[in-house]
Amino acid sequence: MGNITKRLAVLGSTGSIGQQTLDVIRALPHRFHIVGLAGGKNIDLLTKQIHEFKPRFVYCQDREALARLVNADYEFLTPEDIARHPQVDVVVIATSGRSGLSPTLAAVKAGKNVALANKESVVMAGEIITTEAKLNESQILPIDSEHSAIWQCLNGETQPAAQLILTASGGPFLHYSPAKLSEVTVEQALKHPSWQMGRRVTIDSATLMNKGFEVIEAHWLFDIPFDNIKVLIHPQSIIHSMVEFTDGSIKAQLSYPDMRLPIQYALTYPERLANPRLPRLDWSLINNLTFEHPDLNTFPCLKLAIEAGRKGGTYPAVLCAADEVAVELFLSQRIKFTEIANLIKQALELHQFIPYPTLDEIIAADAWARQKVLQLATGDNPC
Ligand code: MG
Repeated sequence: MGNITKRLAVLGSTGSIGQQTLDVIRALPHRFHIVGLAGGKNIDLLTKQIHEFKPRFVYCQDREALARLVNADYEFLTPEDIARHPQVDVVVIATSGRSGLSPTLAAVKAGKNVALANKESVVMAGEIITTEAKLNESQILPIDSEHSAIWQCLNGETQPAAQLILTASGGPFLHYSPAKLSEVTVEQALKHPSWQMGRRVTIDSATLMNKGFEVIEAHWLFDIPFDNIKVLIHPQSIIHSMVEFTDGSIKAQLSYPDMRLPIQYALTYPERLANPRLPRLDWSLINNLTFEHPDLNTFPCLKLAIEAGRKGGTYPAVLCAADEVAVELFLSQRIKFTEIANLIKQALELHQFIPYPTLDEIIAADAWARQKVLQLATGDNPC
């Protein structure tokens, strides 16, 4: 089975995870064949990727512009149609934000294996996605480094985990006071100490909202109660997460912090392959591995997320959408860093909760939250 070429579709190929996925494919060219690529607005990069990988199926937001730039043979399909296409074996969902939800659902409903980097889809609709995946025998292969670590620790075990311990770097503002935090700039927030990531997830790491999303993601992917998921700050980002078992034994996964490793594990699972492009841990440079508890008062997003996850229903969708808009407002310098959490908190408080939502109700809650945060931020509230 080892040498069968897998046919991949990469949705979000021009983003950070998408580009790193293609870098893994370049290192292991005989293992994978790219049959589909979907990009957003970066048509120049998508054009280069199409010339290099020659996919059969392509999507981007500006179809006409793409047709002018690419004269190669391809079929233009929606991300959903690429995700469910019979010629695709594994779908890599590398988009960020809400746009990952619909193709993820299309892929699991078609019984595809889904290498999932888009945590928002599981946060918004974890119950629907995991239920559909079970029903259609679709396997969700986590790419998020923490969930990849947990998955690697659980592989080979026959009993469920007693506790998951998600590690967090703490971001660039670890140990900042609330006053100092209210003055940070976009440039400072975009400088993550250990990981190379897209802009949204980098800001989410700085507020710790990213870790909150990951707690919800872990709850759904590993079917474990919120009470049994713990977050530990580990600034070195060497241990990517840990699993504690019934007997008190703890397994951890360690590596140099590079997203290409969890991407590769998701794509080659259950095999492990040598990849010369991946940096190795250099123990002569590591003096210590430290841990501390997160400061939930200074970083309220983590608490907001865990509360929204516990309540369930439409709350996580509101959390996710409110965060996406609040982060955009911060990136465009229209609100302070500390306003991100305030806006999300207000949106959650004002939301009319639905306990067991349909997909349409989740999408409606998402749309409501986006509008509400914009209203709250501009002070233009007609209610
Ligand atoms: Mg992560």
